[in-house]
Amino acid sequence: MNLMKVKGIVIKETPYKDNDKIITILTDKLGKISCMAKGCKRTKSPILANCQYLVYSEFILSKSNTFYYVNSASVIKTFYNFRTNFDNLQIGFELTKMLQTVTDENQDTEDILRLLLNTIYVLENIDKDAKLVVAAFKIKLFSLLGFSPQAYKCNMCGQAFKENREQLTTEGIYYDYVSNFFCCSECVKNLDKRRYIKVTEATIIAIKYVMICEISKTFSFTVKDIDNFYLFSQVYADTMTNGI
Ligand SMILES: [Zn+2]
Repeated sequence: MNLMKVKGIVIKETPYKDNDKIITILTDKLGKISCMAKGCKRTKSPILANCQYLVYSEFILSKSNTFYYVNSASVIKTFYNFRTNFDNLQIGFELTKMLQTVTDENQDTEDILRLLLNTIYVLENIDKDAKLVVAAFKIKLFSLLGFSPQAYKCNMCGQAFKENREQLTTEGIYYDYVSNFFCCSECVKNLDKRRYIKVTEATIIAIKYVMICEISKTFSFTVKDIDNFYLFSQVYADTMTNGI
C-alpha cells in the first residue's frame, strides 16, 4: 500500500455512516483533498481529535483509485480556544468556505495553508481587530492565488498613488470591481459610479502592504479606517470568488 505523509488542517467535516467521516483537508503537499476517516467518531478512535474541524495534524494517508483514507495522524495544534469561541468560529466558517471554493486537489497550497494557520493563531492569541484580520486574510489569499490588482497607479491615466501617509488627501481612489483595477478620482469623475467603490488613500497603502509582505507579517500593520479597508476586501473577495 502506498502511504504518504502530509501536514494539513481540516476545513470541512461531513458525517458518513455511523462512525465515519469524510473530511476535507487543506494540505501542504496535495492541495485540498477529501479523505475517508473510518471509525473516527468512535470515542476510542486514535484519530478522533485529528478529524475535527480546524485541527491541524500530520496525517498518514493511503489512496485507493480515487479516494484518500486516513491511516493514522498526530496532532500539531488543536486551536481549541479558537474553536470554542463563537465569534472566532463564525469567522472560521467564512474563511474555510472561501478556501473550499478557491482551492483544489494537486494545487500548491502550502502558502495558503500557512496563511490560514497564521490567521487562526492571530485571532486566537493576539489582540487585533477581527475585521482587519479577516480583510487582510482575503487580500493576501487572492494575492497568493495570483489575482492582485495593480495598486500603485491609476489604471487609466497612469498617475502614481501616494506612498507617504503624511501627504494623503481625502480625494479617494476608485476600485473597479468589474475589471479588478484602481483608478484616480479624476478619471472616474464623469463615469457611471455603479461599478466602483471608493477606497481611501490609506486603504490603498494597506492593500499594497498586505499584497507584498511575507505571509508571517500579513497582520503586522494598522490602518486608520478599518471599515473602508474591510469593505474593499469584501467586494474584492466576492468578485474574485465569483470569477474563479
Ligand atoms: Zn487617473
